Amino acid sequence: CGIIGYIGPEEPVSLVLEALSRLEYRGYDSAGVAYFGKDGRIEVARASGKLSNLVALCQGQEGRPGPAIGHIRWATHGAPTEDNAHPHRSGPIVVVHNGIIENDRELRECLTSEGFSFSSETDTEVVAHLIHRYFRSTGNLSESVRLALRDVRGSYALAVLCEDRPGELVGVRRGAPLLLGEGDHSFFLASDVPAFLKWTRKVMPLPPDVIAAIGPEGLALLPVDGSVPLSPVFEEVPWD
Ligand code: GLU
Repeated sequence: CGIIGYIGPEEPVSLVLEALSRLEYRGYDSAGVAYFGKDGRIEVARASGKLSNLVALCQGQEGRPGPAIGHIRWATHGAPTEDNAHPHRSGPIVVVHNGIIENDRELRECLTSEGFSFSSETDTEVVAHLIHRYFRSTGNLSESVRLALRDVRGSYALAVLCEDRPGELVGVRRGAPLLLGEGDHSFFLASDVPAFLKWTRKVMPLPPDVIAAIGPEGLALLPVDGSVPLSPVFEEVPWD
C-alpha cells in the first residue's frame, strides 16, 4: 500500500501515476488518483487490480497544475472493489489513507445519524466525512483535519485535497510512514522516498501527529495538539 501527494507546476495525472508505480513493490489490490480538472473541479479515477488498469482509465486525462493525490490500496475494511478503492470523497473533501481506523464503526454510526451517507465499506470514508463536517464550520482545511484527528483512533498516513481550496494539500501520519519532498516550486508527500526521487532528493520524514499544510505561502508544520509550528528541515538524499 502507499500514498502520494503532489503540488507544483507539472501535469499532475502522469506525475502521480509514475510516482505510484515506484511504490508498487509495497503490494496492493487497487489504485486511484484525484486531481483538479480543467474546470477547477476535483476528478477522481479508481480501478481495482493492477496499476495498469488505472493508467488505462486515465489515458488522455490531464489535470491542471496544482495539488493531486494518489493511492495504492491493501484492503483491510471492505473487498478490493472499485467502490472501496481510494480516493474517498465527502462534499469538497477528497482523501487517501493507509492504515486502519479502529473506531470506524462508532464514527460511522455517529456520522450516519448526522446525515452523512456512505458509499464504501472502508474505514477511510469516516475520515473524509469527519474532515468535511469540520470544514463546514471552520472553512479551514488544515484545522478541519486537526479536529477530525481528535475523533479518530488508529493508524494513518493521509493526504487530503479540498475542492474549495485549489492551492492546498494536507498530509499527516501516525503509525504509518509519510515523507515530505521539496522540489523546485513543488512539494511531495509519499510513503517512501523512491516515489519522488526522480523529481527531488530533498527529503524530510514527517514526524507523527504533525500536519503538513502546503499552500500558496509554502509549507507549514502544525502539531495536532495545537502547540507551536515546527520548522521544516530537509536533507539531501545522496545519489544511490
Ligand atoms: N484501511 C483502509 C482500507 O481498507 C486503507 C488500506 C491501506 O492501507 O491501503 O481501505
